[in-house]
Formats: sequence, structure tokens, C-alpha cells
Amino acid sequence: MSQTSLCLFCAFIIIFTGVKYLKRQIKVGIPRALSYYTFYPLWRVFLEKLGAGVVVSTATNRKILEEGIKETVNDACIPIKVFHGHVFDLAGRVDFIFIPRMISADGKSTFCPKFLGLPDMVRFAGVALPVLIDVRYNRKGFPGGLLRFFLAVAAKIGMRNPLTQIYAAICAIHKQKQYQRLLLKGLKPLEAIEVIFGQKKSHDFAGKGKNQKTSSEKRTTVALLGYPYAIYDSFISAGVYDKLVRLGVEVITFEQIPLKEMRRFSKIMPQNFFWYYSNQVCWAGLYLLEQKSSIDGIIHITAFGCGPDAMVDKTLELEAKYAGVPFLSLTIDEHTGEGGVQTRLEAFVDMLHARKTINRAG
Ligand code: SF4
Repeated sequence: MSQTSLCLFCAFIIIFTGVKYLKRQIKVGIPRALSYYTFYPLWRVFLEKLGAGVVVSTATNRKILEEGIKETVNDACIPIKVFHGHVFDLAGRVDFIFIPRMISADGKSTFCPKFLGLPDMVRFAGVALPVLIDVRYNRKGFPGGLLRFFLAVAAKIGMRNPLTQIYAAICAIHKQKQYQRLLLKGLKPLEAIEVIFGQKKSHDFAGKGKNQKTSSEKRTTVALLGYPYAIYDSFISAGVYDKLVRLGVEVITFEQIPLKEMRRFSKIMPQNFFWYYSNQVCWAGLYLLEQKSSIDGIIHITAFGCGPDAMVDKTLELEAKYAGVPFLSLTIDEHTGEGGVQTRLEAFVDMLHARKTINRAG
């Protein structure tokens, strides 16, 4: 091969590789933790419609938990430790990691301080990471906190076409609403995600939810209250939700409470909490206690070291006592074992069954 043809060949390879690199789809990693359980469809659809590929971290396992524990401050709660593990799981596989600074989702309350500082905690954890998308998610203010958020995310990944941005935002909001409707019907977040992204059909989950009165009227019903990232991460909650279902219990979570009832309780509470998820848990608890014939007991899942839960747990406990509804508080941390949780659930459910039998006989 002559020297000129060799040079031409090399130039072709360089140009080809360069064009291929430029055309390579940007990959954005979403940690399967914390706000994932509430907002994943919104994040995913927006990013995909902008042309990015979305990679979700592996489901929580022992390795993810241990990696998270190693690099997190000691006094963090288990959801924050696990979140770090999910971020490290994505490092090296993606170009960006999506860690929005969650400030306010309803324009009134804020997220807990650990959410607010999350991007900084992760950035300074001492592990090399891709670029973080740490845009502020703050629905407070006008015009359009959500639109402001979307535009900032798009700018961060270099997608600047305004028409594409608006189209992506509309599709994302539409998908998020679909997701919330499925949660309201009683699907768990992972089930609803499978349905809206076409991996399963909604009739695969037919028979689920509080609307199935005929089969559930005789069943013991428990309000399982707590933050979605604790309840639905079956590794950190030791599978409480599924254990209750296996014990023959019908489970209600705060996602199944209609929005108008939540709003009503936000006005009834003499003083709402400062924190978004704490309010959701408390309003749901108060609503279910008001309808106390609809539940036989309340289980509150709380993370060891959670500041907001110190108040939420006590409020729920006192309100349940006042309403005469049995209440169980389950604290989770990295040492929580399946066996211990199973024993406590069995004892609680047995007591609820016995109580029901006595009430019926009386
Ligand atoms: S609300 Fe509690 S459990 Fe949730 S992140 Fe904050 S401290 Fe942790």
C-alpha cells in the first residue's frame, strides 16, 4: 500500500470513528432508589424523548448496600446508604447520573434535608463518577417550576432544541399521570412501571387493589405506611409488603388514597410537616383512621436515624391509639433480618385475626 493510500485510509478511520462517537447515544443512569419510586416514568420519558438512553441501576442487593455503607456518613439512614450504592453501580456504565436536587414536589413542603444535599453527598463520597445531573426540582414559583426543571435537564445533557424539549415534557407528564392512576388502583410501583412501559399488561395484575371489594370484604386489611423507597425496596424492607400478602392480608399504601382526600387532610391537620413524604404518610394515616372500618391495623415502616420519622411515627401511634386501631412500628436498618420481621408480622397479623373474630362474635 502506497504512503498516500495509507494516509487516506487512516483519515477515513479517524473521521468514521469521530462521527460514530458524536452520534453515540448519550446514556443517563437513574439510581433505583429514593425518588425513583415516585418519579421514574417522568424522568425516563423526558430523557428518552430527548434522545438519551436510560440505564437503571441493579435492584438493591447485599453488594449495593455494602458499597453504599462504605462511602456514606455514619449517621445516614439506610435509604441514603443504599442510594450511594446504586450510584456506584452506575458509575463506569453511563455518561451522566441523574440525581436531581429534590426541593419541592408540591410547591409547599420540601423534601428532607438529606434529599436536598444528596448531589453534594454523592459528589464528595470519594468515588470517581460521571457528570451528575443535579438540577433543582422545585415546583415552587411561577412560571412553571416543572418546565424550568425540564429545560435545565435538557441543557445539562446538551439537547437544546426547544420543540423537542416541549414535546418530551408533554410526553413525560402524560406518562407520569398514567403511572399515578395505576398506583391509585393498587399496583406497586414496579408493577405499574412494567405496565406503562409495555413489559406487562394491566390485566396481569387484575384482582389487585382496594377496589376489589367482593374478594376483600372478609380479608384482614392493613395500612402499610412509610416512604415508598423503604416500602417498595424489598431488600431494605425485608419484603414486608410481600410477606403481608403471603399472610393473606390486603395491603393499602398512601399511593392508593385519592388526591382530594389527601388535600382535605392537609387542611385538617393543625400543623403540616415541613417534609413532602412525611405529609403524604400522615395524611393517608389520618384518612384511613377516619374510615377505620376500612382497616384492621397500621404498620409504619421507619428508617433508623430518620429525623422526620421521629415525629411521623409518634403522630401515627397516638392517632391510632385514639381511634382504637392496632399499630405496629417497624424500624429498618442495615442489620434488619428477614426472620425478625417475619416473626413480628405474623404476631401482629395473628392478633388482628383474633380481634376480628372476637368483634364478630360480640
Ligand atoms: S426522610 Fe428519613 S428515611 Fe427519608 S431520606 Fe430523610 S432521613 Fe432518610
